[in-house]
Amino acid sequence: MRIDLHTHSNISDGTQPPAMLMAAARDAGLDVLALTDHDTTLGWAEAAAAVASTGVALLPGMEVTCRTAEGISVHLLCYLHDPGFAGLLEEITKAKDARHSRARRMVERLAEDYPLNWDDVTQHVAPGATMGRPHIADALVAAGVVEDRTEAFANILTSHSRYYVSHYAPDPVLAITLIRAAGGVPVFAHPVASARGRVVGEQTFGDMISAGLLGVEVDHRDNPEEGRAWLRGLAAEHDLIITGSSDYHGRGKPNRLGENLTSPESLARIEDLASGAVVLRP
Ligand code: AMP
Ligand code: FE
Ligand code: FE
Ligand code: ZN
Repeated sequence: MRIDLHTHSNISDGTQPPAMLMAAARDAGLDVLALTDHDTTLGWAEAAAAVASTGVALLPGMEVTCRTAEGISVHLLCYLHDPGFAGLLEEITKAKDARHSRARRMVERLAEDYPLNWDDVTQHVAPGATMGRPHIADALVAAGVVEDRTEAFANILTSHSRYYVSHYAPDPVLAITLIRAAGGVPVFAHPVASARGRVVGEQTFGDMISAGLLGVEVDHRDNPEEGRAWLRGLAAEHDLIITGSSDYHGRGKPNRLGENLTSPESLARIEDLASGAVVLRP
């Protein structure tokens, strides 16, 4: 069984519509794919409609962007929650709206130095999709300022850049509480990806576990090997589910579907613990 539990469609910052992502999963020889767009479940229906034709099982999910009180960014994968659960829906809606105004402010700042306007950016955003820096990167590529998203993030769009603006994101403890209340299974995405920025220490990790964290994404290309070993120890100590995934973004990142996989045992535990939605099998 080939199981990849972290992927993005163009309903956030991936480059393929959900149905095309499902077809790409079939071509990559995957049996189960989780769709985990940033702060939205709007892609679930289209992906679900492609289960029968592709023969790939769909695990509906999302990736919630969080920030701790110290300002550390935390991404939480949320699996099989009830997408209509009000408390969680309110938080992601607030974040999605804040992402929109934040992108506008970033474009205003960038327009002082680069040939870029708001329409250039929105062209790269699918209707209803969650906006992110990758869409601004796409406009910078189209304008010939950079070669690709990677180059845009290396400098112009980093969180240290003078063009950077932050946006509202819930505290991870609040997000975990809401995901559990929505019947979902919260899994900490790329927890030790230190090249992306500061990562949480044992104190915050402990707070997240106490709040109901159920898993850790160990096998992800951004987790260094030492960090993975540490995570495996922590998972054993607290009986956390271990996952591995690609974090595929289509053409937006070099990550390839199936480059890391999750075991059938871990998938079974996620399904047992969830009560808000189900895996859709062909
Ligand atoms: P945002 O959520 O708007 O702050 O943007 C963060 C998103 O940008 C993440 O979800 C990543 O998918 C994407 N990202 C971060 N670094 C890179 C990179 N070097 N190349 C392509 N995409 C990236
Ligand atoms: Fe992303
Ligand atoms: Fe992430
Ligand atoms: Zn992701």
